[in-house]
Amino acid sequence: MEAEATGAVAAAIERARAAQRSWAELTYRERADALRPLKKRILARAEEIASVLGEEARKPYEEALLAEVLPNADLVHYWTNSIEELLATETIELDALSYPGKVARVERVPRGVIALITPWNYPIAIPLRTLLPALLSGNAVVFKPSEHAARAGQLVASLFDGLGPEHLVTLLQGDGAVGQELGSGDVDAVVFTGSVATGKKIGALCAERLVCCSLELGGNDAAIVLADAPIERTARGLVWGAFTNLGQNCASIERVYVERGIAEALIERIVALTAALDPERDLGQMTTAAQAAIVRRQIEGAVASGAKILTGELAEDGSTRVLPIVLRVDDEDCDLMRDETFGPVLPIVVVDDEDAAIERANASTFGLTASIWTKRVARAQGLARRLRAGVVTINNHGFTAAIPSVPWSGLGHSGSGVTNGPHALPAFVRTKLVLEDRNSAKRELWWYPYTPVLRSVAREMAVVRGGGGFFRRIAAFFALLAAIPRRLMGK
Ligand code: NDP
Repeated sequence: MEAEATGAVAAAIERARAAQRSWAELTYRERADALRPLKKRILARAEEIASVLGEEARKPYEEALLAEVLPNADLVHYWTNSIEELLATETIELDALSYPGKVARVERVPRGVIALITPWNYPIAIPLRTLLPALLSGNAVVFKPSEHAARAGQLVASLFDGLGPEHLVTLLQGDGAVGQELGSGDVDAVVFTGSVATGKKIGALCAERLVCCSLELGGNDAAIVLADAPIERTARGLVWGAFTNLGQNCASIERVYVERGIAEALIERIVALTAALDPERDLGQMTTAAQAAIVRRQIEGAVASGAKILTGELAEDGSTRVLPIVLRVDDEDCDLMRDETFGPVLPIVVVDDEDAAIERANASTFGLTASIWTKRVARAQGLARRLRAGVVTINNHGFTAAIPSVPWSGLGHSGSGVTNGPHALPAFVRTKLVLEDRNSAKRELWWYPYTPVLRSVAREMAVVRGGGGFFRRIAAFFALLAAIPRRLMGK
């Protein structure tokens, strides 16, 4: 691990490439053994991680441990124990009549050097969820954390000290310009988590170079509450889902659509639970005053179009202290409802029925996660199919990002990437077919010269595959039995 300055990006990529060559020569098991100590390192440094996150990101201790220490230990365990099986060479069965003596194997080949660019909101967990599978797949990683999470980035990189060849994980500290240089550098894939605006820039850079690009972007998650939902669990779940990490979470609940029958009781309970949150114990502060100002601007806009604040307090100018805000919203034509808020705000909209809820939930450019709250799970499963989202949870929200074995993904402005689980692996490996021909015949059916016998073989094959009725197919089959040996003898 090392720190680099802007301008040294190309050199860092080159050194990473050299490290990757020797790393890729190891077997999956050897790489897994090399990285297995990470789990203990993460757990042993739990207090240090919590302290850096407390000071730099202003996170509560509990959230640091629950979201950025424990899931990461699970992450190491999952990937080091599964990578060999997940990326094992696959043998594909081929039709012996068409392809006699041939064996097809699909190998997974590391892409090479991966550029990893990450945001400040979960500055330990987000980089690690890419670093583990990327490295275990045989890549080297050049990693640029957010300038607002430089200490956390340094800590993440230091976890890998001595676990592989030098420069296997290279840390690049700096601002967006460094990210831009890295994204346009000679890398083989870019894995980016961050805002839509930057994601579009990264996507364009990757398109220009025709390299693989994984984008995990923002969200404007909806929670749909049906009239039969259990009030206490639902209210507690929504309050946590909206305010954990002070809402600075791509999957925080940013819109609640509640059926009229339960609305008043639910709102009353949500307001009471929110007002009872202890700022010191439960909340921490927002990471940057700039983000707090965006939240304030969005709320002021919503209030101007008729939204009512039911509880909470806006951050003062330049401050990061904000008390979670619950609003009742009727007119959704405002930035608060359209854009990602990335702050502790829970707008509630009362709707007539589930169809209205689904329609409004889907009326978003984002499509990250969504949740449905009801006692009737079978009913919720039907609604889940209608939701435009990469992750749908029934009677819970957002926490699945912490499960290393299940996919996390979005659509639309939430990006095109997949994180976690086997489905994330194409960002780190490409497939390579190796076909072995054990056929000792002097020629293949389809090689030169093109003769009348070949013409008849091709025609009868089309019939056998379905190009004729039953009796015609039988006739074609026998015709082929006679023609193929003739053809193989050079006729
Ligand atoms: P940004 O897009 O501002 O930044 C993300 C990273 O990109 C940072 O490291 C940043 O550096 C860097 N960067 C900035 N400009 C460029 C550029 N032109 N080229 C390359 N890199 C650049 O996002 P935020 O840090 O503000 O993160 C918040 C966003 O992340 C939210 O939209 C949130 O929803 C999303 N997110 C999505 C997740 C998901 O899984 N879908 C998970 C977590 C967050 P620097 O910070 O130093 O400027």
